[in-house]
Amino acid sequence: MRTGTLAAGLMPTAGVAALAGAAGLAIAGTLVWAALSPEAQLFGSTLIAPRRPDEVALTFDDGPNPAATPRLLEVLARANVRATFFLIGEFVRQRPDLVRQIAAAGHIVGNHTMTHPWLAWQSERRVREELVGASAAIEDALGQPVRYFRAPHGARRPAVLRIAREMGMVPVQWNVMCMDWKETEAGSILRRAELGVERNRARGVATNLLLHDGGEQGLGASRMGTVEAVEQLLVYYPDLRFVGVDDWDD
Ligand SMILES: [Zn+2]
Repeated sequence: MRTGTLAAGLMPTAGVAALAGAAGLAIAGTLVWAALSPEAQLFGSTLIAPRRPDEVALTFDDGPNPAATPRLLEVLARANVRATFFLIGEFVRQRPDLVRQIAAAGHIVGNHTMTHPWLAWQSERRVREELVGASAAIEDALGQPVRYFRAPHGARRPAVLRIAREMGMVPVQWNVMCMDWKETEAGSILRRAELGVERNRARGVATNLLLHDGGEQGLGASRMGTVEAVEQLLVYYPDLRFVGVDDWDD
């Protein structure tokens, strides 16, 4: 749908060369869309959300983060809600104690690479190093294998998804994001979350909500806006069922 719009928007008024150029641009546009659009499946299937409109998977990327993760765990525990955390391997190496806290609370711990690069543009060797490194760090902390993987920025190409699957992992994308990868106030995060949940309910699918309890630049990022937004979301939507992504992995 988006690619069609893009192609139409780029269609030249005259000239075979211009037409060929537009076709090339349309193909390039399709490839960029397949690599970056969170819901595109052209480069291989990813787990997003089933047709269960009253379910929400809270997913938290870029941790663990001593400045936000412990507080977030308290908020989730109070509401008795299970979530999914996609962790950056180099932070796992620095704070394995936080990783153990997340897992001990019953949440899912997934792989978000070692150093958070744009994997779509990396060599296969680098992709493998990033995925293997992060899984090793998590397994050293928890003593159990890693089942779920999320590509940084959602950026992938077929080789990225293939390597993740070869390692026994399921690639997970999202269908709602709250733009909280940098410090953001709770109100705007909550509004984006609510709009996304309502839109997904209207189209009959669950919500896979992308949030951030950490920041890719380093440990200590301020994400209290995110924590506060989650606290409010759990209060405002008692009729939603909050699940881990493993509930959707048949
Ligand atoms: Zn990330």
